[in-house]
Amino acid sequence: MGIVRLAKTLFTALAAAGILAAQSQPPLAQRIAARLRPNGLKADISFLASDALQGRATPSPGLDMAAEYIAAQFRRAGLEPVGDDGYFQNAGYQTVKPNPEGLAFTLDTAKAGEGTVAIQEAVATDLNRAAAFKVTLSDTAALDALTAEEVRGKVLLVEVPDGGGAGMAAFQAQRRILTLAAKLEPAIVVMVRAAAQQTNPNARVPLRDATAPAPKVPILNVWDKAIRDAVAAAKPGPIEAAVSAHLAAPIVQPVKLRNVAGVLRGTDPQLKDTYVVVTGHYDHLGVRPNAQGDSIYNGANDDASGAASVIAIANALAELEEKPKRTIVFVTVFGEELGGLGARWYTGHPIFPIARTVADINLEQLGRTDDNEGPKVAQFNLTGFDYTDIAATFAKAGAVTGVQVIKHEKNSDSFFGRSDNATFADAGIPSTTLSVSYIFPDYHQPGDEWQKLDYDNLAKVDVTVALGILDMANSAQAPQWNKENPKTARYVQAREKQ
Ligand SMILES: [Zn+2]
Repeated sequence: MGIVRLAKTLFTALAAAGILAAQSQPPLAQRIAARLRPNGLKADISFLASDALQGRATPSPGLDMAAEYIAAQFRRAGLEPVGDDGYFQNAGYQTVKPNPEGLAFTLDTAKAGEGTVAIQEAVATDLNRAAAFKVTLSDTAALDALTAEEVRGKVLLVEVPDGGGAGMAAFQAQRRILTLAAKLEPAIVVMVRAAAQQTNPNARVPLRDATAPAPKVPILNVWDKAIRDAVAAAKPGPIEAAVSAHLAAPIVQPVKLRNVAGVLRGTDPQLKDTYVVVTGHYDHLGVRPNAQGDSIYNGANDDASGAASVIAIANALAELEEKPKRTIVFVTVFGEELGGLGARWYTGHPIFPIARTVADINLEQLGRTDDNEGPKVAQFNLTGFDYTDIAATFAKAGAVTGVQVIKHEKNSDSFFGRSDNATFADAGIPSTTLSVSYIFPDYHQPGDEWQKLDYDNLAKVDVTVALGILDMANSAQAPQWNKENPKTARYVQAREKQ
């Protein structure tokens, strides 16, 4: 009893002197590490990447389940919900399914036969003996020289050379046609091919942002022999032929797609209305029914590891006694694998003002250390390493935790545009993607499964990331683009416009 009383007196004295608090509180990194455990990460990743979630395709019931799970974890962490529906930020997307009913295409007397015409861009159209204009897909100079006066309201017949239906050149040509269609507004674009286009058996119904303007110009693919011959015989330019066509309106249905967002409010009167965004995508490639053997693309490293890290970092930082000065926004996004759909929805419909969002720290592929280049233990890379001053903040954190922050000479710049950080950069926000490995065995394969991740290493990396994010949130100096680097010019410009 005496000892207890003595201890109590000592305690009071020390507390009064402010010594006890300082001495009994372990260092920040240790306190974060105590809350950010390998098993917690393993639990989240093994669920998100389980076969039950069927590879989390956008959209799919598995993706929905993943969103619910992440929301539940944000709830456990005590984050403030900031979506339009609790933690969910609903995105107004639609599926747009071409309707082949009554599809017809006629060039003079040549009528495309059964199975020789297909819809590429579905827009309801009725054309009766319209004028036509011919171009050749390989003649890029002629394509670039086209004017609206020449083709507006007409049928643009695009002759696709034999063998022009595949590969990178074809992809680029396709993009050029889409841009031309939007700019020149022909009544319809008709790709006249030698044969049917290869269709991807795993292709999904196309998605469209319902709040973006719908395409106005329909695109058809035609490979009817008589039509092909007639087009081949004609000279480029206006042609003496009348085109009739009928396309039904596509079948458009709303689809449920959601980002999951929660915040840890800042407490500093000046800085709390500025935002550090932490992102990771929770979608993956889904199931490919035509695959041999295992057809579920689990996406454990890509990117259940990133989504689980967002959860783990949120949870660890939310439990700390000291709250951040800036507000930290945790967002897991859908549709990265389809081209950054969820991130684009966020920057297009920001929950917090873009101009006051100081950084996006995006997390990808943090769990596998068995990179194709060799083991990547106790280290991570930043994309756009020299684009901003963000790397220095994480390097400082790494010096505390023993994790090296590395610039991958080849991938740092080239991967900057390959994940959701790029969407934030386009909006002017200093951003980067942190990754332990870029290309690993099982990358975008069914074998990307949760058993293959190094959870001790992942926890160590995440503690470092958490420290860096907290440092950023507490620093009066916001991350900045490196204006000396010419590659940042467009991002700097976007920032300055705000
Ligand atoms: Zn990914």
